[in-house]
Amino acid sequence: MISVEQARRLIFKNSFPLPPVPKPLPQALGLVLAQDVKSPSDYPLYDVSAMDGYALKASDLRNASQAKPVTLKVRGTQHAGDFLKKQLKTGECFKVMTGGVIPAGADSVLERELVVERDGKTVAFYYTVVKGRNIRYRGEGIRKGALALKKGSQLHSRAIGFLASLGVDTVQVYPRPKVGLVITGNELVKPGKKPKPGQIYNSNQWMLETALRETGVEPVLSILVPDQPQRLKTQLKKALASCDLVLLVGGVSVGDSDFSKPVLESLGVNRIFWRVAQKPGFPLYFGKKSKTLVFGLPGNPASAWINFHEYVVPALRVLQGLPPNMDRLEAKLDSGDIRQGWKTLFLKGRLDRKNGRLSAQVLEGQASHLLKSLAEGDSLVVIPSGKGTLKKDATVEIHPLPGKK
Ligand code: AMP
Ligand code: MG
Repeated sequence: MISVEQARRLIFKNSFPLPPVPKPLPQALGLVLAQDVKSPSDYPLYDVSAMDGYALKASDLRNASQAKPVTLKVRGTQHAGDFLKKQLKTGECFKVMTGGVIPAGADSVLERELVVERDGKTVAFYYTVVKGRNIRYRGEGIRKGALALKKGSQLHSRAIGFLASLGVDTVQVYPRPKVGLVITGNELVKPGKKPKPGQIYNSNQWMLETALRETGVEPVLSILVPDQPQRLKTQLKKALASCDLVLLVGGVSVGDSDFSKPVLESLGVNRIFWRVAQKPGFPLYFGKKSKTLVFGLPGNPASAWINFHEYVVPALRVLQGLPPNMDRLEAKLDSGDIRQGWKTLFLKGRLDRKNGRLSAQVLEGQASHLLKSLAEGDSLVVIPSGKGTLKKDATVEIHPLPGKK
C-alpha cells in the first residue's frame, strides 16, 4: 500500500506522450503540438492598408492645411485581393480598401473620412500625415521562419486561427489516446431497464464514458462484462491489444467475485501498485502491459469517479503531451472538525465566495456509494493524512471539478 503522492509519482514515471501524428489543422482542436511550428510565411503577407482611404506619399501633403488643401489625382482603386503593378508617382494617390495592398511608391494612407472626394478623379487633402500612417507592414506580426507556436502548445480556436493565418494546414500533434472502458459486475443492469431482484443500475459506465468525453477523449470501446474470469479475459485481451489505456472498473478488491487483478496479470499486465492510502478509492490498481496503461478502479461509483479524476485524467494528459498538473485552489474550510488519519481524504465539497475569499463546504453523503453529493458538488476538498484535526477556517487544498460551462 502506498501514499497518494507515491501513486502519482509511479503513474507519471510510467506514462509517456504517444507517438506524434500529422493532423489537418481544423481537426486538431484540443490536441498538443509535438514540435515547434515555424512560420511558413511573413504575416502580413504584404504591406496593406488598415483603413478604407487613400494611399499616397506623405511628402505630397507636406503643405496641406484646412485653408490650403492639396489636391492629388486618383490613379486607381485597390480592393482587398487586388494586386496592381502600377507605381505611384508624386502628385498621385490610390483609393485603397481595408486589407488592400499598398501600391509601390505609396508610404501612408489617409482615412477616407478625412478627405473630400471631388469628381472621382481628384481628392482634396486637408491634413499632413506622418509616414507609415495606417499601413500594416509585411512581416510585422511574424517573419517567415520565426517560431510561431512552441512544442507543447495546446491548440484552441485562437491558436488554430493564428496558424491558419500563416498558411499552415497540417500540424504534428500527439493523438488522442485510445481508451477502452471495461465494466464488470453480475449485478449491473442498464438504467431504464427493470432490475431483477438483487440487481442495481450500472451508473459507472455512462458516468465514465462521459467523464472521458469531458476530457476530450472518446472511448474506443465500452463494455459490460459479468464476473466470469474467462469472459473477462477474452474482453480484456481485446482491449489491451487495441488501446493505449484500459480502464477496468469493479472487481479489484478482495471479494470472492473480484477477478480483475488475476485476470489482468494472466494476460501479462505488470502490476505497478495496488491499494492507495486514500478514501474513497483505496483498492486502486495500476499496471502496464508493454506501453498500455491499465487502471483498475473500484466499483463504488464515487470511488471510481474520484480515482478517475485524480489519477486517470493526469495520465491521459501526459499521453497527450500535456503536463499532468490539474487545477488546484486553496480555500478556507467552512465545516468544522475533520479528523485526519492515515488515509488522504477526498471529500465531496462545494465552493463559495465569502468576503472575497473562497470557502469550501463539505457536503453530506461522503460514503463511496453516494453520488448525489458528487453530482451537486463542484470540488474535492483534500485532507492530507496526519494526526491532527482540521478546524473551521483551516486552509485546505481544493481540486475543482469539471462540468461547469
Ligand atoms: P466492486 O468494486 O466490484 O467490488 O464493487 C463495489 C461496489 O460497487 C458494489 O456495491 C457494486 O455493486 C458497486 N458497483 C460496481 N460496479 C458498479 C457500476 N458499474 N455501477 C454502479 N455500482 C457498481
Ligand atoms: Mg463487483
